[in-house]
Amino acid sequence: MRIASDLPDAVGNTPLIRLRKASEATGCEILGKAEFMNPGQSVKDRAALYIIRDAVEKGLLEPGGTIVEGTAGNTGIGLALVGASLGFRTVIVIPETQSQEKKDMLRLAGAQLVEVPAAPYKNPNNYVRYSGRLAEQLAKTEPHGAIWANQFDNVANRRAHVETTGPEIWEQTGGKVDGFICAAGSGGTVAGVAEVLQPKGVKVGLADPEGAGLFKIYTGEDNPGDSITEGIGQGRITANLEGFRPDFTCRIPDAEALPVVFDLLSEEGLCMGGSTGVNVAGAMRMARELGPGHTIVTILCDYGNRYQSKLFNIDFLRSKSLPVPSWLDRAPASIP
Ligand code: PMP
Repeated sequence: MRIASDLPDAVGNTPLIRLRKASEATGCEILGKAEFMNPGQSVKDRAALYIIRDAVEKGLLEPGGTIVEGTAGNTGIGLALVGASLGFRTVIVIPETQSQEKKDMLRLAGAQLVEVPAAPYKNPNNYVRYSGRLAEQLAKTEPHGAIWANQFDNVANRRAHVETTGPEIWEQTGGKVDGFICAAGSGGTVAGVAEVLQPKGVKVGLADPEGAGLFKIYTGEDNPGDSITEGIGQGRITANLEGFRPDFTCRIPDAEALPVVFDLLSEEGLCMGGSTGVNVAGAMRMARELGPGHTIVTILCDYGNRYQSKLFNIDFLRSKSLPVPSWLDRAPASIP
């Protein structure tokens, strides 16, 4: 193992982990790319690094400058940590509804938080649109200027996956990979990996949580309902999704994704967030579509401690009529 020169140099090159239960249930090899092992514990460190590097290379971000972003959390954590390492300040606009743990982590990482009520994109006070306006203002008033990271429409995000995640998957599997599937937030991961793997004959799938708009855009079928998963569920073709066409699309209800999250933790020691449940459930659906004997890769997006007050909280799960794993309900051990 070589020595990383700094935190940005330690982003990426994550292991692929065989997911035993999903593989046994489908007769396929289902492999998870362990993105929770990035320094900020999520897949978004890659996009954060590429967005910052791109702004520096274009001369838009000077030392001491400020990075502004509207984010559900993980991109902000990546931007704040990479920013701290490279000498930039970070201001994050986040919907109030996001988990307290993510907000606490953002503050720990040194980001200044602006919490706004959750509002759809068409509302000017939607967190993404608010962050764009805030960046414009700070660009005028901050002594070293400010940029808007704009992860949804800044294609430096997708490039991170074209140049790193996609080639890593190809090399790690020795080209023995038949399918790749994940959910989309900005779409940078799925479209970037697809750009590398689809020309090599790998089928790429999109797993959408219930209520997300992309499913309808790609299939023409409605996708009613909603989801407690965070960071995924896109309603439009972002710049990062332009030109991407999934070979396979499925909608995954929370009642299917959450038991996968609980089993990954209790049976395989993998403590993951909700979007990983959608991804692994999606990989299992794709495995059944392709048939036994295939190798399918998905993304283990972020670490589960970020969602302790929701995903792993009995009262919260019951309030949403979601499945509660038996071990969460277990009384603490005591000496008889
Ligand atoms: N899972 C989680 C937990 C995320 O925070 C995100 C990004 N918002 C994603 C998945 C989706 O990644 P992408 O933006 O590359 O589509």
